[in-house]
Amino acid sequence: MIPDSKIDEIRERIDLVALMGRHGVELKKSGRSFKGCCPFHQEKTPSFHVWPEERRFKCFGCQAGGDAFSFLQRLFGKSFLDTVRDLAKDAGVDLDEAIDPGLKEKAQIKDATDVAAEHFKSRLWDAVVGKRAREYLLSRGVTEDVARAFGLGWAPLAWTELADKLRERGLIAAAEKAGLVSPRKTGDGHYDMFRGRLIIPIRSPEGRTIAFGGRLLEGDDGPKYLNSRESKLYNKSETLYGLDQARDEVRKKKSVVLCEGYFDCIGLHQAGVKNAVALCSTALTPGHMTVLARAEGKELVLLLDGDDAGRKAVERLAAPILAAGGKARVAALPDGEDPDTWARKVGPEAVHKLIETAPTLTQWLFATVLPQGPTSSFEAKMDALERIRPIAAGLPVGLMRSAFFGALSGLMGLPAAELESTLKGKPGATVKAVPKPAPGLEEKPPEQWEALFAAGVLRDVRLLGKDQWRAADELKHTGLRNLIAALATGHSREDALYEASEAVKRTLEEQALQKSLPEDDQALEQWFLVVCRRLKLRGLEEQLTRIARELAQSGGSGSDLTDEAREMLSQQAQLLALKRQIQAQKP
Ligand SMILES: [Zn+2]
Repeated sequence: MIPDSKIDEIRERIDLVALMGRHGVELKKSGRSFKGCCPFHQEKTPSFHVWPEERRFKCFGCQAGGDAFSFLQRLFGKSFLDTVRDLAKDAGVDLDEAIDPGLKEKAQIKDATDVAAEHFKSRLWDAVVGKRAREYLLSRGVTEDVARAFGLGWAPLAWTELADKLRERGLIAAAEKAGLVSPRKTGDGHYDMFRGRLIIPIRSPEGRTIAFGGRLLEGDDGPKYLNSRESKLYNKSETLYGLDQARDEVRKKKSVVLCEGYFDCIGLHQAGVKNAVALCSTALTPGHMTVLARAEGKELVLLLDGDDAGRKAVERLAAPILAAGGKARVAALPDGEDPDTWARKVGPEAVHKLIETAPTLTQWLFATVLPQGPTSSFEAKMDALERIRPIAAGLPVGLMRSAFFGALSGLMGLPAAELESTLKGKPGATVKAVPKPAPGLEEKPPEQWEALFAAGVLRDVRLLGKDQWRAADELKHTGLRNLIAALATGHSREDALYEASEAVKRTLEEQALQKSLPEDDQALEQWFLVVCRRLKLRGLEEQLTRIARELAQSGGSGSDLTDEAREMLSQQAQLLALKRQIQAQKP
C-alpha cells in the first residue's frame, strides 16, 4: 500500500488550478478562489469553485467536490489508488522509492501465508484427512467453534502438499523466507516444514495471519512445537498469541491474562477467560508491553503452570513488567497444574475467582522468595536477595523504585537504603516507565462521521455502492481513504486494517464506535445512509461558512451589491434550500 504521508505529499504538490486547466476546466480568479463551469454537469453560469490553498474544489450546482484525487476519480471513473499513482508522476513524487523494497517481499510473504492458512484449514476440516487432528482437539476439549475462531489447521504427514501449491502460485521463494518450506538438501525443489502437525496460526491484533505454530501429532519429526521463523510479517517480540480473539474483552476489562502456551490460551478461551493471550517465545519484551498498552490492557494477570518452571517464569517476567511500570498480579495454579487442563477441570467460575483474588506481582514475589518474612534465617534472606537482584536492577528511578525497596525492607527487616546499595547494579534509569507510543500515534485521528463511514465500509464493502452523495470523495482523512481504497480493491478486512495507520486502527477499533453499528444488514444500510447524509451536511456547512466569510470580506450588504456578492447570495440560498431538503429527507 502507498503510505498515507506520500498521498498527502502528492496532494500538497499538485497545483489544482493547473490540473483542472489541463482537463478542460477554464477557471477565473474570484477573490481567494477560482471559478469556472463545472465539468460534471451542464451549466452556463459558473458554479464550480476551486480553493487552491485548501486543495479542494466544490460545485454548488451538482455538489461534486473533494480534492485532486476525487476530481480525477470522478472525471475518469478511476480508482483512488490509480489516481494517486497517476498524480504522483505529475507531482514528481517517486512512489517506487517511497515503497520500500522490503514491501514487495512483505506482500509476497503475506500471500504465501494466506495460501498456507487456507491450506491447513482445509486439511483439518476435510472429513478423511483431518480426522486424527480433530480427534486430538476433541481430546483436549477444544470445540469446533473455538477451533474455527482460532483458525486451527492440520498439516498432514506429506512432503510437498503445500510446497506444490505455493510453487504453482510463484510464491515458493517467499514461503521459504517465511519458514513454510525448505529447499531439498539433494536435488531441486522444496519440501513442507510442517508435517504431521496441528497448526496454530499466529495472528496480528487485527486478525491477519502472520506466522504458524505447529504441534507434532504424527511421526517423530523434530520438536514437539515448531514455529515458523520471524519474517517481514512476524516479529515474535511484538506478538502476543490470541490477542486478535482477546481484544474486545481486554478493552472491556482493561486486563490481560498472560499464559505461556498456545493451548493454554485456547483452553482458557474455551473456559470463558476471553482476555487470555500467550507469549510466542519465553521472553516478555518492551515491545509486548507497548502492544498491551495499545490494546488498553492496563493490568496483566500472569497465569502460569503450577510448578517450578511456572514460578521461575513469573520471576523472569517480573523484571520487564516492573521496568515498564506495568501493573501485574499472579494467579498461582495448584502444584502440577497447567492452565489448560486446570481450567477445563474446575470450570470458568473457579478460574475467574482465582484471577480476582490473585495477589499483586510484588506481593507474590516477596511471599515466594522469602515465605517466612523478617524471621527468616540470614542465609534465606541472602538467597532471596539474589533472586530479587535482576528484578530490582531494572526498576526505573522514581516512586515505584522507592516503594519497592520500602516493601522489601519490611519483608527482610533490613533498612531500605542498605538493600538498595546491595542490589545496586544499575538502576534502570534508561528504561522508559511508560511505553513509547508507536510512531504514527501522534497522527491526527479521523473526524467522527468520517470514521463511522469507514467503519460501515469495513463491516460490509458493498455499502460503498449505496453512497448516493459520493461522501467517499469528500473524506479528508488520508488514512481512511487509503483503507477504503484497499477494501474496494478486494483486500480482506483484516489485511486492510493491518496495513492501516495507528490512528485509523485506534479509531475504528473503539468500542463505542463499534457498538454504534447495527448488526442487522438492513439496519446497517439505513444507518450508513444517515452517515452519508451527515457527511454531506458537513460539506454544506463548510460551503455556507465560506460564503458567509467571503460575503463579509467583500462588504456585500445594502443596495450596492457587486455581481460577485449577488451571486454568492444566490448560492447561499440554494445551499440552504439543499440543506433543508437533505435534513427533511428520511433515509
Ligand atoms: Zn457541477
